[in-house]
Amino acid sequence: MIGKKLTTVAIIGGGPGGLGTAIALSELPFLHVTLYEQNPEPREAGAGISLSTNAWKILDLLGASDGVKGGSKSNTHQRNAFTGKILNVSKKPENSAADSRGAIRARRTRLQSALLARVPEGVIQYNKKLVSLENLKEGGVLLQFKDGTEVTVDLVVGADGIRSNVRRILFPDHQLHFTGNTAFRVLVPKSSLAHLPDITHATAWWWGETGHTYFSEVDDESENPDGLFEITVRSYHEPEIPGKTVAWGIPATNERVASRVSEFDQRVKDAIDVVPEGQWREFAGYAGPRLDKITGWDKVVLIGDASHPLSGAFGSGATFAMEDGWILARALERSQLSSHSLPDALEIFEQIRSPYYARMYKHLDEAGKSIQAIKKESKDFDEFLKAKIEHFLYGDKDFIYKNDIAKVWNDYGTAENSDKHVD
Ligand SMILES: Cc1cc2nc3c(=O)[nH]c(=O)nc-3n(C[C@H](O)[C@H](O)[C@H](O)COP(=O)(O)OP(=O)(O)OC[C@H]3O[C@@H](n4cnc5c(N)ncnc54)[C@H](O)[C@@H]3O)c2cc1C
Repeated sequence: MIGKKLTTVAIIGGGPGGLGTAIALSELPFLHVTLYEQNPEPREAGAGISLSTNAWKILDLLGASDGVKGGSKSNTHQRNAFTGKILNVSKKPENSAADSRGAIRARRTRLQSALLARVPEGVIQYNKKLVSLENLKEGGVLLQFKDGTEVTVDLVVGADGIRSNVRRILFPDHQLHFTGNTAFRVLVPKSSLAHLPDITHATAWWWGETGHTYFSEVDDESENPDGLFEITVRSYHEPEIPGKTVAWGIPATNERVASRVSEFDQRVKDAIDVVPEGQWREFAGYAGPRLDKITGWDKVVLIGDASHPLSGAFGSGATFAMEDGWILARALERSQLSSHSLPDALEIFEQIRSPYYARMYKHLDEAGKSIQAIKKESKDFDEFLKAKIEHFLYGDKDFIYKNDIAKVWNDYGTAENSDKHVD
């Protein structure tokens, strides 16, 4: 039963998921929470991060939204990368009904700082790389770290990202594969691009056949008029280099990045040329099949990228990870209040989050099939792009970007109560 003595919780990983979970769980008086992060200090390798209504909902619940500022995505252009032709302009009003803060692109470090500020002092231990877990017969889980230290806890939260060690230990047959889709990312001062036509005045996607380039502000103009600007070059068919399985946040040369856009419009190439040598970072996309279960041993739970290795497919993975942590807190709280056990809490988590991730995998499957059909039916590249943009960027994804996680929890409670009533 949860609650007789303090239940000890080890969160593995200090990304958005681990930090969000640390905030939510630390508010529960019957838990003793420690977060173990392998890095020696807070580190964030990526460039910008998109945050939509679903992100504001969870950040509000975690009390972390105030510190998160970024560039508005209310004016977004979609272009043919070869000709520069604008195929679609979305001008969403700043004060949308869903959330007045709208969709933004923020520096990743901004999100990380906002979350870190909300984690109580003493909860995070750095330089702690988890290497093994053992399911103890007498109860609890034994954790071993690379530095030779050990700890035994009641509950382990695997928030250790897409290459999760916790997942590998729990589900050794689950394998990741290289998707061929690699992102090269950089942040540069917006002023360094200002002399180029049509680059800095809107968020923009320049779509090619084997990749695209994305431009976006990552700072709030009212706060910082000459802030940073993100350039991401995506390449869809990178060869897998044997023996080199992980390229995550590693430096990429200017030549390597430029070769991916060599046939693009001159404006894109000029923008790429502005980036000082040594600034680009490369992120190879890995993904894995859906896990049938995201909990194990009745005392380990996977959250965020560890639980659904989708390789950033929806550009909302940080939000999913934080939502997971908050739902886990609600499930533990509910089980504690009703004197239920830890496995019951994990079952609630499983019932709420597994179907959500199943829906995402299904969406991606169907999208993959649709794109093939669209390709066959389109007369030319512009027609194909227009259909693809319409289908994928503006298709029915409200279940993601407008997800209201507090409502999800309330609806679960209502459904549970009505089930009980029927019984
Ligand atoms: C190119 C790209 C673009 C993306 N764009 C967006 C976007 O715009 N918006 C968005 O919301 N999401 C985006 N995502 C997805 C998002 O980055 C992830 O979904 C999110 O970071 C997942 O958070 P997490 O906490 O689960 O894992 P992570 O952020 O990966 O954090 C895992 C943490 O665990 C630590 N760790 C790992 N192993 C161990 C260990 N053994 N012991 C201790 N610590 C360990 C790591 O050091 C790290 O700090 C994108 C992803 C990619 C690849």
